Amino acid sequence: MTDCIFCRIAQGEIPSDTVYEDDEVLAFRDLNPQAPVHILVIPKRHIATLNDLSAEDAGLVGRLHWVAAQLARQEGIAEDGYRTVLNCNPAGGQSVYHLHLHLLGGRQMAWPAG
Ligand code: 5GP
Ligand code: ZN
Repeated sequence: MTDCIFCRIAQGEIPSDTVYEDDEVLAFRDLNPQAPVHILVIPKRHIATLNDLSAEDAGLVGRLHWVAAQLARQEGIAEDGYRTVLNCNPAGGQSVYHLHLHLLGGRQMAWPAG
């Protein structure tokens, strides 16, 4: 998916402020942060939306959350608390169609989410 911006980031074609990387997962700071800590955790493999997740991929979403929890500790927001968000399709507010988990923290979050 060479026309996918997050695939290009995962392949190192577009620079990003990377904070975590393993064989399957990459995490980098959001270009337009909505909180003092705003990190995107993505699978390196292209999966467009949560709707496109297969049963075999289900563990990958758990892994994205595990990475987010490690990064929350690393960023010093684990104890105060933080939010993870996965937007799906237009009504869910998704703008980049490569699965990604938002890790947001460093400020008080409002509820309900907008
Ligand atoms: P979505 O709205 O799809 O849930 O979130 C997409 C996120 O990706 C947005 O928060 C946006 O700021 C971020 N984003 C879009 N393009 C880039 C980019 O090229 N680099 C980085 N680091 N973040 C991006
Ligand atoms: Zn992609």
